[in-house]
Amino acid sequence: MKNSNKDIVIIGGGVVGTAIAYELSKDKSLSIAIVDIKKPGNATQASAGGLWAIGESVGLGCGVIFFKTLSKQRQEAQGGQIEVQRPHQLPPFFFDFCLRSNEMFPQLAEELKDIGGVDFKLEKTGLKFMMYDDDDKAYAQNIYDSIPHLKDQMAWMDREELLKEEPYANKNATGALTFLKDDQVNPYLLMNSFREAARVQGVEIIHAEVKDIVTEGGKVVGVKTSRGNIACNTVINSAGAWAKQIGEMVDVSLPITPVKGQILLTEKMPKILTSCFSTSDCYIAQKDNGEILIGSTTEDKGFDVTNSFGQLKGLAEGAVKAFPILKNMNCKRSWTGLRPGTPDEVPILGKVSNVDGYINACGHFRTGILTSAITSKMINDIVHDREPELDITPFLLNRFDGAEVKGYTIETV
Ligand SMILES: Cc1cc2nc3c(=O)[nH]c(=O)nc-3n(C[C@H](O)[C@H](O)[C@H](O)COP(=O)(O)OP(=O)(O)OC[C@H]3O[C@@H](n4cnc5c(N)ncnc54)[C@H](O)[C@@H]3O)c2cc1C
Repeated sequence: MKNSNKDIVIIGGGVVGTAIAYELSKDKSLSIAIVDIKKPGNATQASAGGLWAIGESVGLGCGVIFFKTLSKQRQEAQGGQIEVQRPHQLPPFFFDFCLRSNEMFPQLAEELKDIGGVDFKLEKTGLKFMMYDDDDKAYAQNIYDSIPHLKDQMAWMDREELLKEEPYANKNATGALTFLKDDQVNPYLLMNSFREAARVQGVEIIHAEVKDIVTEGGKVVGVKTSRGNIACNTVINSAGAWAKQIGEMVDVSLPITPVKGQILLTEKMPKILTSCFSTSDCYIAQKDNGEILIGSTTEDKGFDVTNSFGQLKGLAEGAVKAFPILKNMNCKRSWTGLRPGTPDEVPILGKVSNVDGYINACGHFRTGILTSAITSKMINDIVHDREPELDITPFLLNRFDGAEVKGYTIETV
């Protein structure tokens, strides 16, 4: 690559960077490049692909698993005393962020297939929280009662109804709370579909590592990459778990840390699940090709991307408990991804006060697939100096001003 000129350089070509590139590319007057090098553990390729707008907002994506794992360990450590901790819900503005994004996917599926030719396999499955005991029931009831305005998007099932719809489910399950519009996609294809549509609309994809951001008088004037320099007046930091390092290039301090998640995948099976499932041990999603994805751990292990028997065993046991038929299934592979975690589990979006031309689009933690669509719209508005359709204030970096930030506050398991 020779030295070049662009209006906008997007640093990081995961789902967030490619979604933003696609949205920006609708403005034909802008010249745009994505600069991306795939680092081990990049989150998009590791994701489960859940569009679990309510499920994630109430913490079901990985929180239940994490807290139960901890409590089991503590249980042993404390000589059999059970301390069950449940995940917390995120604030109302985060529900709006997720729900609005989720609504955009049917239209996006058409649009991106038409423009770039890639189908990201939107599946209208819904998400069921499978309950095993009174404790699970009370937890689900609490979720249901706490979001009365979303009752039309939830449905209760008793054991009989659950087994009628999901005949392979655990016969002792007491029922399920279904989130009717929490669907799924293929995350890898979603990223490809954004990237291809962006490319068709003129975005240049540069496979290189960003080494530095150049500023003059507090204003962005370019980036230095492993394959040459690019002059530009705007950079967008969508570098996922590595966003902190990009921020440091312009003295922007981002409280973003990698949060490890391990996943297990089965070989292809005939369709045995009509829905995605979350339980107190794991989540389970059968993808359109028949493979069943079982996820995922939540670990504070820095940039470590190894898989560990202990964690995978926990996921496998959770899946077999929910669907005993999986006991005889073969594993195809397992992997690890690094979620870009923030202390409050909310992404960091928008401009900063000390560097003109620098924009954050990072920290999407466990919902970057789901919230890529609304993020791209909000960043597009910011680039064009328009008011985003949702209030940007709770997403701005300055929400941490004066706060004692300790990184993503999870315990190592
Ligand atoms: C196990 C697991 C399961 C998940 N399940 C779900 C789910 O079901 N639903 C959901 O919505 N979300 C899920 N997530 C979260 C979701 O995957 C992330 O929030 C999302 O992928 C973040 O996207 P991103 O583009 O910000 O980061 P990434 O996909 O990590 O992309 C960042 C890119 O920037 C590149 N990069 C970094 N530094 C540089 C540099 N200096 N120069 C050039 N390139 C650089 C990286 O290599 C990478 O390619 C899951 C995550 C994990 C790990």
